[in-house]
Amino acid sequence: MILTDILEILKSDSENNAYRIGVNNYTYNELYKYVCNLYWFLLEKNRSKKPVVIYGSKEIYMKASFLACSFAGMPYVPIDINIPKDRVDEIIKQINPDVIIGDLEKDVRAIKSNDIYSIMNNNNFSEINKIYMKPQDTYYIIFTSGTTGKPKGVEITYSNLDSCIKWLKDITNAKNEIVLNQANFSFDLSVADLYLSLVTESEHFIINTNNMMDFKKIFNELKTSRVTLAVMTPSFADLFLTDKLFSEELLPELKMIIFCGEKLLKSTVNELYSRFKRLKIINTYGPTECTFAVTSFEIPRNFDEEIPVGIPKNDVDIFVLDDNDKELKDGEKGEILISGKSVAKGYINLKTNKFITYKGKSAYKTGDIGYIKNGNIYIIGRKDSQIKYKGYRIELKDIESNIMDLEEIDKVVVLPKLNENKKVEMLIAFVKTKNKTEFDIKKELKKKLPSYMIPKIKIINEFPINKNGKCDEKRLMKELL
Ligand code: AMP
Repeated sequence: MILTDILEILKSDSENNAYRIGVNNYTYNELYKYVCNLYWFLLEKNRSKKPVVIYGSKEIYMKASFLACSFAGMPYVPIDINIPKDRVDEIIKQINPDVIIGDLEKDVRAIKSNDIYSIMNNNNFSEINKIYMKPQDTYYIIFTSGTTGKPKGVEITYSNLDSCIKWLKDITNAKNEIVLNQANFSFDLSVADLYLSLVTESEHFIINTNNMMDFKKIFNELKTSRVTLAVMTPSFADLFLTDKLFSEELLPELKMIIFCGEKLLKSTVNELYSRFKRLKIINTYGPTECTFAVTSFEIPRNFDEEIPVGIPKNDVDIFVLDDNDKELKDGEKGEILISGKSVAKGYINLKTNKFITYKGKSAYKTGDIGYIKNGNIYIIGRKDSQIKYKGYRIELKDIESNIMDLEEIDKVVVLPKLNENKKVEMLIAFVKTKNKTEFDIKKELKKKLPSYMIPKIKIINEFPINKNGKCDEKRLMKELL
């Protein structure tokens, strides 16, 4: 399985770069030293084998700790430093770890990054002598937006991840690449570049910035990167494409982009293909609950049809169901159900009817609406109020619930404003306060939600009601905006 392959590569004494961020390069040899030291440290320190919270950004200790936990047979929970304190506390409450790695203030369980670096750098280390992780063990827990206002943790097993990464290696044919990372390690998009880079003995190239709008700095870094393969969301590509400098001249060796996470527009594909002459684009689809992605479609140049998300990986089946869970025929639209090897264990500490057994296999009801035509899957929308905004997955109810928790709020409805391509352009919270006093809702909300979930606030006196006595969302958007 992948950990055996990764261990072999780490042990191979390779001076190839494993990780590059800013001016810092780390070879596979160095990474092995870090992982070995952390592995022995964790085996001693975390005897309960409870999940380890790994808090930080893109520092090398993050990737080294992920691997150390994995070899030591402990699940890990990545938390990015941009997640507000209240939400971090909520995640930690749900996990109740014995060990936290990273600079989390005021938590005695936290081992600060300075200490982690000294542990990692011990030159007198013992090698990893056993891989403790078993196929059905939880490998990582990634938290995503939940309808209750609290994030929910998706438990991914070693077997789930193994299947995903082998499939990715297969569809990309990658070997000794330079793999660009876009996403924070607390999003499952990053799992693809984190592990694909390892199993293919590639360099993992990290953009060293907190500000993705600082094109000048980013492009300066990319210029010397020699990136060959990238994993990104369409929103991220669209952002880069707003600058003419994002072209073959900047990244002459870029040969493949794997997209995932949201609808890929033809305009994005056409623009990329016209700027990069040797590029291949692969559209992939899947929720965090099914380990990064489960379908793929390589988009031919001059492709003029609706872009599908492609065919499922071979250990996964996809069905389209109607409202009574009856299977629909080709071409009919319904809910996408994914069954097979990629389906997660479930949510941690949360009961749900989304994880089911279907035809004897573990399955996940995605909430995505789509259809199958000539073997290819097409995604056209959602059944619920989960959306993608700037590539981020958000439950509108998560925002509503956090606003309702503030004092002085009488009622709130959060709606997405869509552009002509049906992509979310802006989030708006229509709020009625109890005694009309306006207060800084945004300021309060920033303590609870990440910045991409903070909506524009519109205070209103009354909510328009439709014939069924429900809030008339169409009128809200039209009249009140
Ligand atoms: P996440 O858990 O953040 O990966 O988000 C998963 C959701 O993103 C899916 O359930 C879909 O709604 C959407 N999604 C992911 N990939 C695609 C794609 N290629 N095309 C359309 N929607 C997608």
